Amino acid sequence: MAAELNLILFGPPGAGKGTQAERLRGDFQLPFISTGEMLRANVRDQTELGLKAKEFMDAGDLVPDDLIVAMAGERLGQDDALDGFILDGFPRTVAQATALERKLASMGRRVTAALLIDVPDEEVIRRLSGRRVCVKAGHNYHVEFDPPKHDSVCDQDGSRLIQRDDDRPDVIANRLRVYHEKTKPLVDYYDSLGLMRRIDGTRDPADVHGHIRAVIATLRLEENV
Ligand code: ADP
Ligand code: ADP
Repeated sequence: MAAELNLILFGPPGAGKGTQAERLRGDFQLPFISTGEMLRANVRDQTELGLKAKEFMDAGDLVPDDLIVAMAGERLGQDDALDGFILDGFPRTVAQATALERKLASMGRRVTAALLIDVPDEEVIRRLSGRRVCVKAGHNYHVEFDPPKHDSVCDQDGSRLIQRDDDRPDVIANRLRVYHEKTKPLVDYYDSLGLMRRIDGTRDPADVHGHIRAVIATLRLEENV
């Protein structure tokens, strides 16, 4: 029996993955690995990978599988990920999912479960168009659903709040298209492996958090972690 939790968090853009990541970080001693955050750091630092990834990200397209698989594979091999992890935003294609499986198998490990935070398209559009993030650490806000205490300033670290380049309406529409075409097939993929767990992402953040915690607690019992 696996003595670790290797979890995947996925769902449409704007489903609340980042928001839940913040909350779950406090609950479980598992590293939270977000390929979107890793890519944005590479863009900021103007690394070779960042320079290659930027045009895809700005258009709302997926960064090519080979680049992502190499980046994520390297991260998963680091010490802090050896006892389990929560992945956010990876895998996003079936090819990435099979690459992840191979990488884990080479270490004698496997995915414990894939948690889908499900939200309909209209809600995605509402959430992404009102999303604001802090420049320092990417803390999430929403102009209507989760406004900061002071206009355009992060409650947590005082840095400035901005709108992400890929949260513009035309890019949001493309990201949704890409989600349905490339990432949604992962639902069937993980269903067929018996690893899918569905979470209703339309409820308020505290309810969604409670549901995810309950799912993870059940998995822990089943896996004897
Ligand atoms: P969101 O959480 O809003 O969906 P992310 O921060 O996860 O967005 O990702 C931002 C962008 O980074 C994506 O639109 C895509 O261009 C790129 N990206 C992140 N993860 C992956 C991945 N696993 N495969 C391909 N592209 C990715
Ligand atoms: P993702 O990481 O999946 O792209 P985020 O966590 O960044 O999504 O959330 C997208 C936007 O929606 C943010 O502005 C966030 O404040 C807001 N949001 C997140 N969860 C909820 C929720 N359950 N109800 C309403 N708004 C939410």
